[in-house]
Amino acid sequence: MFLEPQVKKGWIEVICGSMFSGKTEELIRRLRRAKIANQKVMIFKPAVDTRYDENDIVSHDATKIPSIPVAHSRDILLKVQNADVVGVDEAQFFDADVVDVCEELALRGIRVISAGLDMDYKGEPFGPMPRLLAVAEYITKLHAICMKCGNLASHSYRKKVVEGQLVLGEKDLYEPRCRICYHSEFEEVDTKTVAEKESTNGKKT
Ligand code: ZN
Repeated sequence: MFLEPQVKKGWIEVICGSMFSGKTEELIRRLRRAKIANQKVMIFKPAVDTRYDENDIVSHDATKIPSIPVAHSRDILLKVQNADVVGVDEAQFFDADVVDVCEELALRGIRVISAGLDMDYKGEPFGPMPRLLAVAEYITKLHAICMKCGNLASHSYRKKVVEGQLVLGEKDLYEPRCRICYHSEFEEVDTKTVAEKESTNGKKT
């Protein structure tokens, strides 16, 4: 469990991990505690993430905290007012400027807590996350449970063939997998394709 620093200075925390690893729940836990400490909390999310409620940050277990959807990360600087703590959810969907925005907020003395997917479904670093992780003071990497073997999962496996990095979906489209199961699936698919090719070429096995 992450123990919040108690000094009143600006810094950046990043909560990252695969899908279903509990990132939003952890973000909400920290923000709730800040609220209990009578700090002014504001939460922003990219306007692109419309999977649930328009104005609520909603985690997978339906815990709600009201949040402000913004089209561009720079809008956060305009809307932030006198917050002590700023949450940035689904940070991977923000534009590249979100890193500068988080640093600007931290320089103003704000505690920034950002949550996002570190890798996309191809296992590649997701959008602004690598830079955000590099400049952050505190990083928490969470894991889900692999749906194939029960080990800790670090990858988000896309179950159907849909092109594009930004495809919103839930358990219908994605499942958490450990490194081994994530990669073994692709090998199985490749083998099948080769076998099919051979049979269509008339090479009987
Ligand atoms: Zn596994």
